[in-house]
Amino acid sequence: MAPHAVIIPYPVQGHINPLIRLSEKLASHGIIITFVNTDFNHCKMMKARNRHGILQDPSFNIRFVQVTDGLPFDFKRTAVSVEFFNALMTTMRASAEDLLDKLLIQSCEPPVSCVIGSSFLPWTIDIAKKFELPFVAFWSQAVSVQVIYRHLSMIIDNGDFPPKKQGMIDYIPGLPPMHPQDLPSDIQSGDPSNPVHQVIVQQLPALEEAAWIISNTVYELERQASNVTKEKSPVFLSIGPLIPSIYFEGEGKLEDFSIASPRSLSLWAESNCLPWLDSRPERSVCYVSFGSLAQISRVQVQEIARGLMESEQAFLWVIRPDLVSSEAGKTTSIDYIDILPGGFLEKTKDRGLLVPWSPQLLVLSHPSVGGFFTHGGWNSTVESLSLGVPMLVFPQGIEQSTNRMLVVNQWKIGLRLDSCRDDAVIEGAEIAKCVKALLKDEEMRKRSNQVRDTIMKAVGEGGSSWKNMNDFVDYLMSLPTKKMHLSRGSKR
Ligand code: UDP
Repeated sequence: MAPHAVIIPYPVQGHINPLIRLSEKLASHGIIITFVNTDFNHCKMMKARNRHGILQDPSFNIRFVQVTDGLPFDFKRTAVSVEFFNALMTTMRASAEDLLDKLLIQSCEPPVSCVIGSSFLPWTIDIAKKFELPFVAFWSQAVSVQVIYRHLSMIIDNGDFPPKKQGMIDYIPGLPPMHPQDLPSDIQSGDPSNPVHQVIVQQLPALEEAAWIISNTVYELERQASNVTKEKSPVFLSIGPLIPSIYFEGEGKLEDFSIASPRSLSLWAESNCLPWLDSRPERSVCYVSFGSLAQISRVQVQEIARGLMESEQAFLWVIRPDLVSSEAGKTTSIDYIDILPGGFLEKTKDRGLLVPWSPQLLVLSHPSVGGFFTHGGWNSTVESLSLGVPMLVFPQGIEQSTNRMLVVNQWKIGLRLDSCRDDAVIEGAEIAKCVKALLKDEEMRKRSNQVRDTIMKAVGEGGSSWKNMNDFVDYLMSLPTKKMHLSRGSKR
């Protein structure tokens, strides 16, 4: 009987995407997957797909189920909100526990053999333990970031929580010397009650007990950090990049948008921007996107628009309906036309395209795209590395400044965009200069292609990620498939 893994992502796009891609890889080996979405995200995905889709396709080895986070549908889940975190830690947990209880009581076929959970949901290990199932932790960030948090007490002892204004952080094993601004934002803020800090720190104990820690990275890209992690946790496996193998199979395979993007679990409808990209010269377009969560002030968005206008370069800019934060810090759905500087649309109509959401992998793999102006989210970073696209990194929080350090200082395939003052708005003129430099820098482009080659070797037969993925599949295949007879009463 096939093994059956229940996969529970933290319910945001940046965890859903790599985990659905992992699910597809495991399903292709005959492993049955139950993929757990919140009902809120399920509805958003169905709406984004115009209710068409694979979400209930019986021929596919992936079964989609929903749990609830208990919040009203109009609650703004993209905002950094204590209420949202609390709902995930309590109501979502209880709902996921009920779901597993039902799967086990109903003796689903094949029986559940393990739980794979986002480490951002530290309770996933508790429910796996409760039902006596092996637990696999999915680490969604760079392994360098894991190394930072594993050495948090060292950072605190050195008086760098928050970091001292001057001096380098040069004592963390496996990491190059870092500027204080390279640390994750919650460490920079030095506030232990910060909800993001709480979520990140709470996941660490689960890592110690997991059967495996799987990570969307590539050994060769984070060699020393991986070695340090592996010393402490031999069960650590880098299995990235978690993107479909079709993106490594050469040109000419991705022409059909509907074929290349069939299993997308995007929370917004993907605009088909490929015909527009087809009309642009090679490597001439700057792709601009700040991921699924970042909120940027109205005045900064206006400066970005000015920068793109002044750069005189072609651009494809994703402006999510909730990208702009109001002065009060609340998310507002806006009509971007209302906030763009006067004359912007007219002046850029021949070289600019604005969309609310893009099929990002297809965009990054398009030959017309020459650079990625990004917030530096880990998935965006891994996707850009995998497709050989240099980056201009403009971090918006969490661990994005650490990712920027890797992109700019370690791999040397990107430029940094930041201000000397934390609260300062970056002006359009600076953005224009950087966008031009991004598209013109041939050396950076060459290094980006070398990084892509490294990644292709890692995922190719005999490569590091290929081996690790095979070991992981072998482990899942070896799990006992006997039925468990746990009743609701006996385990509560
Ligand atoms: N993404 C996308 N279309 C867009 C913007 C983003 O498909 O227009 C995807 C992107 O490919 C990535 C995810 O959304 O897989 C964003 O994750 P990331 O870690 O980069 O940033 P986050 O949203 O977590 O800040």
